[in-house]
Amino acid sequence: MQKTCTHCGNIFEITNEDLAFYDKVSPVFQGKKYQVPPPTHCPECRQQRRVAQANQITLHERTCDLTGATIISNHRSDSPFKVYQQSVWFSDQWDPMEYGRDFDFNRSFFDQLKELSFVVPRYAVQRGYDFDENADYTNYAGKNKNCYLIFDSDHCRDCYYSYSINSCESCMESYRLRQCELCYECIDCVDCYNCAFTQDSENCSESTFLKNCIGCKHCLMCSNLRNKEYYVENKPVTKEQFAQFRSLLSSYSRLQNARERFDKLKIEYPQKFMHGTQNENVIGDYLTNCKNVEQCFDCSDLWDCKYAYQAFDPLKDVMDIQECGEAERLYEDAFVGYNAHNVLFTTHTLGQISDIYYSSHSPYNKNLFGCIGLRHKEFCVLNKQYSKDDYEILVARIIEHMQKTNEWGEFFPIDFSLFPYNETMAQDYFPLTQEEAQKQGLWWAEKEESIYKGQIVKEGLPDDVRDFPETLCEKILQCKKTGRSYKIIPQELILYRQLNLPLPRLCFQERHRNRMLLRNARVFYDRTCDKCGVKFKTTYAPDRPEKIYCESCYQTSFA
Ligand SMILES: [Zn+2]
Ligand SMILES: [Zn+2]
Repeated sequence: MQKTCTHCGNIFEITNEDLAFYDKVSPVFQGKKYQVPPPTHCPECRQQRRVAQANQITLHERTCDLTGATIISNHRSDSPFKVYQQSVWFSDQWDPMEYGRDFDFNRSFFDQLKELSFVVPRYAVQRGYDFDENADYTNYAGKNKNCYLIFDSDHCRDCYYSYSINSCESCMESYRLRQCELCYECIDCVDCYNCAFTQDSENCSESTFLKNCIGCKHCLMCSNLRNKEYYVENKPVTKEQFAQFRSLLSSYSRLQNARERFDKLKIEYPQKFMHGTQNENVIGDYLTNCKNVEQCFDCSDLWDCKYAYQAFDPLKDVMDIQECGEAERLYEDAFVGYNAHNVLFTTHTLGQISDIYYSSHSPYNKNLFGCIGLRHKEFCVLNKQYSKDDYEILVARIIEHMQKTNEWGEFFPIDFSLFPYNETMAQDYFPLTQEEAQKQGLWWAEKEESIYKGQIVKEGLPDDVRDFPETLCEKILQCKKTGRSYKIIPQELILYRQLNLPLPRLCFQERHRNRMLLRNARVFYDRTCDKCGVKFKTTYAPDRPEKIYCESCYQTSFA
């Protein structure tokens, strides 16, 4: 069946398998099944609505509205609701049930949920505050020690300025690493040690500027190599020649030249049509160990899933989700957390939950409908307690009401977001101008609220890392592209000296954006293998200069 998106007007397809999935996740109340209808929004607009609910990487300094303490939060100080520091939010110092209310059948469901949403206090950041050690400036992260500005990252130590890195040590400026140490500006790497500017590589060490390499050591400006040592530009060199080339990279201007040269060199080598391994019957990118998966990105261990993004733990029978783990039967959810079953139309429910609908910020619950900020509760609607029977009768009536108002089956409207659009993940994947956002009635942050206060250095930084004075760590630097303030923290300077690499000239947000641009966008194109002609869907656009190979042609290109 073809449908027209009610948001953007694009045509999108709903398959018979999709309809069977909606039927499978439809809830039953009082013995009657409440069918989940097919979506009214296209997959992209559905994803935009979900990621607009999260600000992961922009932090602010503000006060806790209960204790008055100065805290770090992803909520701005001018947010129109109360924000509590995590240890307070998760304590008994306040009761979310105090905000409970009756459902009014003369009003729309979303109007009433939005009212509740803006009075219940929110937690300051999302991190494992009781497991973390010296990791105040992290978000969507947990079990980290001595980390600064890392996001969507767990189990790291001494890591800075990175996104989606897990079980890493002493890594900086990286994106999607696993079990890496002393890595800098690395993207999509596993088990690497002391590497810089390395992408899509595994088990490499002491190397700089690598792409698609496995098991390489002491390599520089190399692509598509397997188990090589002392190579520069894919040719063997002596140990002395390698050391000489590598030592030149301590200078900012020479590093920029090397970066430009490697950008040209790496496109000479064939690329595999998708990133990932151990997959069966998948359409997606950056996938590992997935089976029967369609239109999924940055995921591992999925089974029978569609439109899933950034999920790393086993998921089965899941559609339209952003960042969930160890879950089954989820539909239209964002940031569900671990251990979730039968969860529909929710955001930030944080795990240990089952049979939850239209709720947010509510971990450790069962059977909730339209609740915000609850913990360890069951059978609640709009933060009000009911008996099991009364809960089922009321929820059935509310769904019937929502069927009439065309709200049943829709995720939260985009303006439910607790963040300005330009501070959310949506701005990364679905960028809007201020004018476009305001036309849609979305909140837009016009003024930056920096976490940095102090004297701004106006003069340029030294070209070579060896000439960088330690006193600059006390000052505020200004991004030469965005004008935003940034800082060099003392631990960071030590790492730059250890890696013999120059210091950044851009703010963290811009550095993060540039790394995202080195990965393929989440868009599919129909292409054929440049060697054997087999057809596939790929995120490499047809006008890209690289040769794109199917799996088997790519593997045999190393023989
Ligand atoms: Zn659309
Ligand atoms: Zn081929």
